[in-house]
Amino acid sequence: MDIRKINQLINENKLVKFYQSKEWRFLRQQALERDSHECQECKRNGRVGSAKNVHHIKEVKKFPWLALNLRNVESVCINCHNKEHKRLEKYIRKKKPKFMNEERW
Ligand SMILES: [Zn+2]
Ligand SMILES: [Zn+2]
Repeated sequence: MDIRKINQLINENKLVKFYQSKEWRFLRQQALERDSHECQECKRNGRVGSAKNVHHIKEVKKFPWLALNLRNVESVCINCHNKEHKRLEKYIRKKKPKFMNEERW
């Protein structure tokens, strides 16, 4: 799995294949071990959560060259992971109407 392959999967909307690759599974395992299987988001909030997922801090679609960089991933629990993705979605949705408002002036 190299950057060309990742770019290709993004273009074909087949990123699921990236998450099935042995390279990702290996990186994922490394991240979980580095973080002692603890949710990093819970940790920032003074809680302890058992990490089941590994999250890309900078998302793969926009930063494919960071897809397999250990410094771009962190271990998170399912709860925090869902929250983080909802927050990202909202952020994207919010941006557009604001832009339209500004255009009216
Ligand atoms: Zn958490
Ligand atoms: Zn994620």
